[in-house]
Amino acid sequence: MARRSMRLVEYGKPFQLTKEEVPTAPKGGAVVKTEYAGVCHSDVHLMDGDFPIPLNTVLGHEIAGTVHDIEPGQDLKVGDRVAAFFRGGCGDCSRCEMGEPIACLQGVRRGLGSTVDGGYSDYVIIPDVRLLVKVPDTVAMDTACLLPCSGLTAYNAVCKMVPTVQDFAKHNGDCAVLLVGAGGLGLWGVQFAKQLLPAGVRVICADVDEEKLKTAREAGCDGALLWGKDVDNDTVVAEAKKVCGSLGGFAAAIDFVNVPATFERVEKILAQGGMHVLVGLMGVGVSASVPLMPYVLGRHQMTSLVVGSLPQLTDVMALVAQGKIKPPPISHHTLENVYDVLQDLKAGKVKGRAVVKL
Ligand SMILES: [Zn+2]
Ligand SMILES: [Zn+2]
Repeated sequence: MARRSMRLVEYGKPFQLTKEEVPTAPKGGAVVKTEYAGVCHSDVHLMDGDFPIPLNTVLGHEIAGTVHDIEPGQDLKVGDRVAAFFRGGCGDCSRCEMGEPIACLQGVRRGLGSTVDGGYSDYVIIPDVRLLVKVPDTVAMDTACLLPCSGLTAYNAVCKMVPTVQDFAKHNGDCAVLLVGAGGLGLWGVQFAKQLLPAGVRVICADVDEEKLKTAREAGCDGALLWGKDVDNDTVVAEAKKVCGSLGGFAAAIDFVNVPATFERVEKILAQGGMHVLVGLMGVGVSASVPLMPYVLGRHQMTSLVVGSLPQLTDVMALVAQGKIKPPPISHHTLENVYDVLQDLKAGKVKGRAVVKL
């Protein structure tokens, strides 16, 4: 028996298809037979060397499949349907113990699909079984693979703004939040915002693409702002004021794009005391500036995040299993085609999410 893997042998170049023996589970870990691997925008950065990683690595950090090999005596057994959380830590510190390996106190980073081989392969070695979350029967596996990355990131981003928005809603019932970017993350974000924010809070999306805004409306958003490059900032502010209600600005905003233009626009249209959540990784090698006095006098808050925690992933899995959150449109592709799909993703041609079916 062999496993096929697509390896990154040179930055910016097509992957190399390799064939190897199927691995066995390491101590404390497992081997998962991949069923689906999500194709994510982070992979474009990894493939192009924007975040340098060891060459000869198999990318693919959005992994769902079945347990193929595991030590006896664990909560999981061979054949269980699982999704993998892709960022392991030391496994021993109190943060790792709490299911927050992203914040590992030892600073250990074991990244499936970045520092160790990931899901663009028939089988994946999982270094720590605690990184695996069971997939309920009611969750489709092509959806499950998306949850540890885009689903969890959007959920965590909405969680970050919940306390601020609850406070606004208590004092001023008429308030709205803004989600910048109506792609895959934005569509998850709209639905989590509708589930987690107080009833009556309006969720508004901004995007440069009218089609994406239409899809966001179908996913439940209450209003759309078209932010084309030809739209000047005065128009952005005027249009935002029309949908913000009596608060005069957004109670909170999540920037799933996060380039200087979107960053500066969000700062102009946040309400006093509003929360600005920075999520997107599009701002490679660029900076944005904050007008310091208005920032302080406006009592703006700012935070950022990288995916989320394992307990949050369990919450996301439950919300999807209950049918409260619907996945974005998903397109299926072959392993051999993954490099071309990444090129399409880079060119903005992928609607919803693309996944590789193994
Ligand atoms: Zn991802
Ligand atoms: Zn740790």
